[in-house]
Amino acid sequence: MNVAVRTTPSEIAPEPADALDHLADALFHKMGTDGVYARTALYEDMVERLAALITRHREPGTEVMRFPPVMNRGQLEKSGYLKSFPNLLGCVCGLHGTEREIHSAVGRFDAGGDWTSSLSPADLVLSPAACYPVYPIAAARGPLPPGGLRFDVAADCFRREPSRHLDRLQSFRMREYVCIGSPDDVSGFRERWMVRAQTIARDLGLTFRVDYASDPFFGRVGQMKAVSQVQQSLKSELLVPLRSEEQPTACMSFNYHRDHFGTTWNIVDASGQLAHTGCVAFGMDRLAVAMFHTHGTDIARWPGGVREMLGVR
Ligand code: 5GP
Ligand code: ZN
Repeated sequence: MNVAVRTTPSEIAPEPADALDHLADALFHKMGTDGVYARTALYEDMVERLAALITRHREPGTEVMRFPPVMNRGQLEKSGYLKSFPNLLGCVCGLHGTEREIHSAVGRFDAGGDWTSSLSPADLVLSPAACYPVYPIAAARGPLPPGGLRFDVAADCFRREPSRHLDRLQSFRMREYVCIGSPDDVSGFRERWMVRAQTIARDLGLTFRVDYASDPFFGRVGQMKAVSQVQQSLKSELLVPLRSEEQPTACMSFNYHRDHFGTTWNIVDASGQLAHTGCVAFGMDRLAVAMFHTHGTDIARWPGGVREMLGVR
């Protein structure tokens, strides 16, 4: 008997598999958009344990602040984000018109049309990194104390770069330690954290290397900015080879902004010297994905030392 075999479009052009795809069912639930996922209990528990481990390494005298997923649009504009990464920014918008205008937008939707043409921007953007809001807060406190200030900050961050890869999310959690002080304060902070971060990665049983890096600056001028960033060694990353040695995943970054935020927000010390700033950023979602990719999804079978470090019984 002849059986007609139907080919569906997905059979004709199968999605190329990615090295991290095997983790999807254990860690995430789809929510209709690539790079935006609901998280399973297994995954969320790991993020919490990783956060607790990072907290244990917090330096004394560090002030804790937690930020919402949105921040003031003017503050991010003033920080220069649109000059560097305009393509990644998500902006909150809403129906800000009169009652009649709002009814008419909803009416268009009900009739099968487009309501979004009535949207206008709010004074909020989705935070693209956790540390942006801390600089104006520090500036408002007046001159820096001797030794500068250190903060522990975190936020849900958004970057508009849809991808099917589980280590490239549009909405992800970022934890950061931030230093605001003299150039010496910041370089000392950065050196200490470069060592400490590698201890954390080693304790977690991750394979990694630390290398100089550049941010994905937008456009052709951006390429020049990236070259200069590497030449001046302003950014390093802790790279974990999740899918290959050649294309490793950055799970932490170490950033030196020189006096960029000091100048932007007029942060000065008692003698009027402009502050320098630096931060170490932990990609909480990437670290969790790296842990499951490295050790598997059955935590009971993870190495004893790693389980102990994370407080897993
Ligand atoms: P950076 O500001 O250095 O680009 O980002 C800081 C850290 O956030 C990165 O080292 C990385 O761990 C995390 N991160 C950046 N982009 C993404 C992303 O697209 N997805 C996820 N899950 N984490 C990211
Ligand atoms: Zn930062």
